[in-house]
Amino acid sequence: KKIIIAIDGYSSTGKSTVAKQLARALGYVYVDTGAMYRAVTLFAMRNQFIGEDFFQKEKLIESLADVQLNFHFNAEKGFAEMYLNGENVEQEIRTMEVSNFVSQVATIPEVRKKQVQQQHELGKEKGIVMDGRDIGTVVFPNAELKLFMTASAQTRAQRRFEELQQKGENVTFDEVLQNVKSRDQIDTSRKDSPLIKAKDAVVIDNSEMSLDEQFEKILSLAKN
Ligand code: C5P
Repeated sequence: KKIIIAIDGYSSTGKSTVAKQLARALGYVYVDTGAMYRAVTLFAMRNQFIGEDFFQKEKLIESLADVQLNFHFNAEKGFAEMYLNGENVEQEIRTMEVSNFVSQVATIPEVRKKQVQQQHELGKEKGIVMDGRDIGTVVFPNAELKLFMTASAQTRAQRRFEELQQKGENVTFDEVLQNVKSRDQIDTSRKDSPLIKAKDAVVIDNSEMSLDEQFEKILSLAKN
């Protein structure tokens, strides 16, 4: 029987890595909901609704009807890439600049409502692995398997820092650490759908776990 697997947790805990592995192993569809919030953020940046010292929430809310998000499967990469109004933005949404604004954009109830609606549609196709911050609590409270991922902020920032460096981004470890901490802070304290562990979620602390160990553990949970 195909099920819904909801993966939530703090920033840079490796949710998407596990989610991709699981989806591949089980023949499921993987949906990265963080990519959706990132794409809306990119849209807001391009339209000058958000920047270093300004955030025109009302303008963004008014323009939400002009934001079309789609996932298209990239067979070569083995996962679905994010498209904003027909344009592939998979690379651009992963930059530090987008990371610095995304959690503020994700506090807006109108933005969340629209994303959650689309996520429900995507979930109609059973056999889905979805990762984010509110999947087990808000999007699919009835998901058959819920995971809550965590690791120390240092560990997470180190992994993220290495990833960004490999991509050639000019960032310091401290910037990445600050970003990870600040996103966690905003995500856990916002009024609408704050990041919180669902009661029935299994906690995975991977500070000291190898990727293989973690995957074996989670795969066995998914198969039971
Ligand atoms: O998962 P990722 O780190 O790419 O998500 C980027 C940001 O989007 C998070 O820090 C959070 O603020 C927001 N987000 C959210 N709800 C989700 C997924 C992401 O609020 N379901």
